[in-house]
Parts: sequence; structure tokens; C-alpha cells
Amino acid sequence: MTDPRIVFTDANLIDGEHPARAGMNVVVEGERIESVSEAPPVARPGDRLVPLGGRTLMPGMVQAHFHSHFGAFGEGVTAPALGLEAAPPFLSMLAAVNARTALHCGFTGALGSSSGHGIDVCLKEAILLGLVEGPRYRACTRELVTTGESSDYPNNRTWFMELGNKGLTYEVDGADAWRHATRAELGRGADVVKISASPGHGSVPARDVMYLTREELRACVDTAHTLGKKVRAHVASRIGVLECARAGVDVIDHADRLDEECIEAILEAGSFVVPSMLWTVRFLEIAENWDHAEKPLPISEGYPEELATTLERIRGVREDFEYTARMMPEANRAGVKMVVGDDFGTPVMPHGTYVDELELYVKQLGFSALDVIRWATKNGAELLDLGDEAGTIEPGKLADLLVVDGDPLTDINCLREANLLAILKGGAFVKDALPGA
Ligand SMILES: [Zn+2]
Repeated sequence: MTDPRIVFTDANLIDGEHPARAGMNVVVEGERIESVSEAPPVARPGDRLVPLGGRTLMPGMVQAHFHSHFGAFGEGVTAPALGLEAAPPFLSMLAAVNARTALHCGFTGALGSSSGHGIDVCLKEAILLGLVEGPRYRACTRELVTTGESSDYPNNRTWFMELGNKGLTYEVDGADAWRHATRAELGRGADVVKISASPGHGSVPARDVMYLTREELRACVDTAHTLGKKVRAHVASRIGVLECARAGVDVIDHADRLDEECIEAILEAGSFVVPSMLWTVRFLEIAENWDHAEKPLPISEGYPEELATTLERIRGVREDFEYTARMMPEANRAGVKMVVGDDFGTPVMPHGTYVDELELYVKQLGFSALDVIRWATKNGAELLDLGDEAGTIEPGKLADLLVVDGDPLTDINCLREANLLAILKGGAFVKDALPGA
């Protein structure tokens, strides 16, 4: 007895790698793709026939910078007390909701990017057990930081960074301590270690420094790799990106201020880059349009000298953004493996608004929609170590698929949730709003 099949016909096929092909047919049997063909497949009794009438069939996407339990914050652009803003049981419920949201937005895979209280590991297990609906999930550790990072912030709003070991962050100093922390954090079941390697990004200007010593960085990366795990780094300085790539950091988050030498080192290491530029855009939209005379931006205390610091900070963020927006296309052209994902869960970019990031890249920063879709599908699956299993539409691969009402290569906005007519994860419908369903 063979499984009933799903037979998609007349698809605009975006396979995750090549330009779109019209009039294509894809058969799904069980959890996998059985065939991809121009010729109509021979139907079998019991097949579910899905004539797509030119609608798009594409791989499920991967959210590569997923803060599972972000979203319990207040308003505006003040830094939240990460991991301490609500009780851990509440944050874990939020993580379950966010995971479901991501899946229903077409993200069939996700990689965590720092998580407190072991929430990411629990989320991954809960998804695997079917307790919670969510993407194929890779769990992240707390964010390992070096002592004194909070001094980079110009006011007292980030006091929580000094609490060190209680929330999302964990203070580590010295190569031996980095080895120990890496083992201890990964030993709880995470797949990737998050480290904070430099200041900068989003709402804080870059400075050309590293937080970790080279020995600390290499101790962390070598330990993680020995265990078969990955390292991802918040890094937004030229020297930081360069050192992280040279040390073999697997995921370079943000990568503000990268230059040609960095791009070469990233290519050499085969690291993935998460440009994550939406948060910066959102911050600047608010900060540059703020009436600073009327009241202080929540990142400042409102004293004259604080206001000057704030305005200087905003100018610094703008300059970093303009520079990085010029360099990212060079990195992309050079063949750097880009992936999508950003700090969703902050008030100005709630979970569920993921397509805003893709829209930014295509409509404002000039990347081709096909490239951005490749980042979200093929590259994302490779990042999850699922390159042979998912990310493209090919016979034998897992049927992680989206049916899109429209052509995202013409308008990337068709990837918004309302236009997703079907979402399949491993051949099973997560969402089925196909005509005649
Ligand atoms: Zn982040």
C-alpha cells in the first residue's frame, strides 16, 4: 500500500536555485518529493490533484536569526532586559507562539539566535514531539559575552547586561572559561553557541574593536567544532568580522563594517552572513524623525549632554548603515552565503513581519528577488545542515513547500502570510487554503 500522493500541476516553479520555470509538475509522496517534471505525471487512484494554474510553488524558507522568546517588551527603541523582561515560563509560552507564527509565515526551518533559560532547547524538543507547531528547529545557547560590554552603552538602560548570568547573557573571561562555557551551554542540547564579539549594529554605532581576545574566540570556536556544533557571532566591526571569519565562526550576524578583506576571509571560511538590516532601518526611521526638543528618545536620559550623545549615536548608526548597504551587494556578488533573519520580536518589528526584511533587500537595497529567495531557501537549509534534505525542490528531498498566490520574483510581497495558500512541512499540510481543499 503506497501513501496517497499530492500532485501539483501547472506550477510556476521556483526551485530555490534556478530562475522560475512555468508549467511544471511536482509530485509529493509521503514526506518527500517524488518527481519534478515538465510532462504531466500519470495520476494514480487516490492522488490529490492540485492544479495550480500558474501559481508559485517554492521551498519553505528558513529564518536564520530567530529569537524564540522575544516579544514581551514595552514600546519604542529602549533595549529590553533580555531574558529578564518576564518570567521564564511566560517566555517559553511566547516561544511556542512565535514558532507557530514563523511556520505559518512559510518558515519551515529556523536557527535560534540566543535564548535564555534553555528555552530554545525545550522549544526544539517540543516541536519534535509534536507538542508545539513550529519549523525544523536548531536551538541556540545563551549569548556568551565578556565582562564590561555594557560600558558600550551611553546610559543606564542596559544595567541588565551586568546581571550577567541570569537572563539571556552569560559572562565569560579567559580561554579556559570560554572552553568550559561552550561545553556547558552546548551540553544542554543546543546546536549553536551565540557569542557577542563586538559592539555595534542596529541602534549602536560600530567601533573597530573586538570584545574577545583572539585566544578566547578560538577556544570557543575550536571547542564547538570539536563537538560538531556551530558558533554564531554578533559582530559589527571590521576587525571583529575579520577575526571571526579567520577563527572559523560559522554564522556572522550583522557584519556591519565588513570590507573586501573580510569578504575574502568569509569566503575562505565558508561562513554564512545574516545581513539583518531591517532592525537598523526601523531604528533610524524612529530616531531620525524623533522630536528631540519635545522629549528625549527612550535611549537617552534627556540631559543636554545625553542628547548630544544620542544625536551622535544616531549619526553613527546611519553612517554604518550606508556603508554596510554598499558592501553587502559586493559580498553577495563575491559568493558569500547570505541568509535571512533579524531581531524580530522587538516592538518595531514583531514576529510575523518577516517579509519586511525581504522587501527591504529587494525594494530598497537592490538585491534580486531570486537571490533573496535563494538566501531564504537553499542557503538556509544548508545552514541547518539540511542541504541534502531540503532548501530546493528536487526528487528525493523533503517536501517542505509553499504555494504562493502570485509571483514573488515580480513582487516579493506576495510572500506575505495572506498569500500563502499552502504550507507543507515534510509532505504534511501545515496550512491548506488551496481552492477545493
Ligand atoms: Zn539578534
